[in-house]
Amino acid sequence: MSYVDKVLEKIEEKNRGEPEFIQAATEILESLRPMFGLNPEYEKAALLERILIPERAIIFRVPWVDDEGKIRVHKGFRVQFNSAVGPYKGGIRFHPSVNLSVMKFLAFEQIFKNGLTGLSIGGAKGGSNFNPKGKSDNEIMSFCQSFMSELYKYIGPDTDVPAGDIGVGGREIGYLFGQYKKLTGIHAGVLTGAGLDFGGSYVRTEATGYGLGYIMDNALKARGESFEGKDVVISGSGNVAIYAAEKVEQLGGKVISMSDSSGYIHDPDGISLADVKQLKEVERKRISEYAELKPNAEFYCGCSDIWNLPCDVALPCATQNELDTKSAETLISNGVKYVGEGANMPTTLEATNKFLDAGIILLPGKAANAGGVATSALEMSQRSMRIPWTFEEVDKKLQDIMSGIYKNIDTAAAEHGFKDNYIRGANIAGFLKVSRAMMAQGVV
Ligand code: NDP
Repeated sequence: MSYVDKVLEKIEEKNRGEPEFIQAATEILESLRPMFGLNPEYEKAALLERILIPERAIIFRVPWVDDEGKIRVHKGFRVQFNSAVGPYKGGIRFHPSVNLSVMKFLAFEQIFKNGLTGLSIGGAKGGSNFNPKGKSDNEIMSFCQSFMSELYKYIGPDTDVPAGDIGVGGREIGYLFGQYKKLTGIHAGVLTGAGLDFGGSYVRTEATGYGLGYIMDNALKARGESFEGKDVVISGSGNVAIYAAEKVEQLGGKVISMSDSSGYIHDPDGISLADVKQLKEVERKRISEYAELKPNAEFYCGCSDIWNLPCDVALPCATQNELDTKSAETLISNGVKYVGEGANMPTTLEATNKFLDAGIILLPGKAANAGGVATSALEMSQRSMRIPWTFEEVDKKLQDIMSGIYKNIDTAAAEHGFKDNYIRGANIAGFLKVSRAMMAQGVV
C-alpha cells in the first residue's frame, strides 16, 4: 500500500466528526500522490502524519452581555496549524457554522495558500460560532472584547497575526485591536485588516477580490483571451465578491449576477456595482433590494440556482461547498470555460472533478484568493517599517504576487504531468514549500 493510501485510510478514524477537515485533507493528499513515490524520505520523516495535526488548537469560552443585560456564551477557536514557513497567519470568522472541523479545514488550506504566496507566513484560522447579524455596534464591541481577552495570550507580531474573514471586517478588527492594546499596552502589528489610521494597508479591503481578478486575467491571457466581452457570474455580495466584481469590470468583463444567502439577482445589462456597494456596504441590506432599483433586473430566491445562468466565467465567492455536481454540470452544459474560487473550497470534490474532466480551467481558492493574505503580509511589512506604501505601490505588488502564484501553479502542474490541472498545481507547489521548510527544521 502506498504511503498516501496508508495515511488516507486513517484520516477518518483520527478526525471523527470533522467532515470539512477530512474533505480538505483528502483533496490535498489525493493530488499529492505522484510526488510520494519519488520522495521516500517524506514517509521516513512521517511528514504527512505531522502535517495533518495542528501544532496547537485553542478552544475557549467567550462570555458577553447583550443590550438587554442577558449573559450570552459562545465558543472561541484559534487553530495554529503550521509555522514552518513563518508566523501563523489566517483570518478570524464569526458565523454560526463555525466549529472545530471548519476551523481545521480552513487553517489546513491556509498553510498551502500562504506557502504559495512566496511570503514568510505559516497557516492558522480562528473564529467563533457567534452570529454578528442583527447585533448592535455595542454588542459587537462587547463580544470582540471578550474574544480578545483570551486570544491575546496566544498572538503576537512574530508568533500569530490574525486577520478578518466572514463576519469580521474593519469594525471588528478595530474593536479586537483596541482590546489587545488595552490588555498589553503594546501598539503592535498583531492583527491585519486594521484601519488606515492605525497601521492598515491600502488595498487590503480590495485585495482578495482584486487578486482573483488578476489571477484569472493571467489564466485568460495565457490562452490568448481576456475578460473583454465575457459574461461573469459571481456568487456572494460580501467583501470578496464586491471587489472581484470591481476588478472584472475594470478588466472589461460584464458581471451579470451576484447573490447573498437569500437568493441572487440577474441583471442582463451588467450589475451596477455602485448600487450593490451602497446596499451591502453602507446600508447593510439584502441583495433582493437591487431588483427594485433596476427595471431589467430580477431577484430569485435560493442560492444555488445562480449557477443555472449561462456565463463564460464563474467566480464562486460566497462560502464552502456552494457549488455542487448538479451546478457544475449545468455550468458546463451552458458553456462555462473558466472557474475561479474566491471563497475557500466553494466547489465540492465531485463538482471539481466534473470541471477537470470537462477541460474547464479551474483556479482553486488556495491560489485564486491568496491576494488577501498576501496583502496582509504586505501590511505586516509596512507596520514593521512604520512606513506606509501608496495604493498604487501595494496594488502593483499584489499584481506581481498573483502573477507569481499563477506561474508557480502552472509550472508545478506541468512539471508533474498534469498540465492545466491547477488543483494539483496549487497543492503540489504549496506543499513543496512547506515540506522543504519542515524537513529542514527536523522532527518538531
Ligand atoms: P462576507 O461575509 O463579506 O460575505 C459573504 C457573502 O456570501 C455574503 O454576501 C453572504 O450573504 C453570502 N453567502 C453566504 N452563504 C451563502 C450561500 N450559501 N449562497 C450564496 N451566498 C452566500 O465574507 P467574505 O467575502 O470575506 O468571504 C467569502 C469567502 O471568501 C469565504 O469563504 C472566505 O473564507 C473567503 N475568503 C475571504 C477573504 C477575505 O479577505 N475576506 C480571503 C480569502 C478567502 P449574507 O450576507 O446573506 O450572509
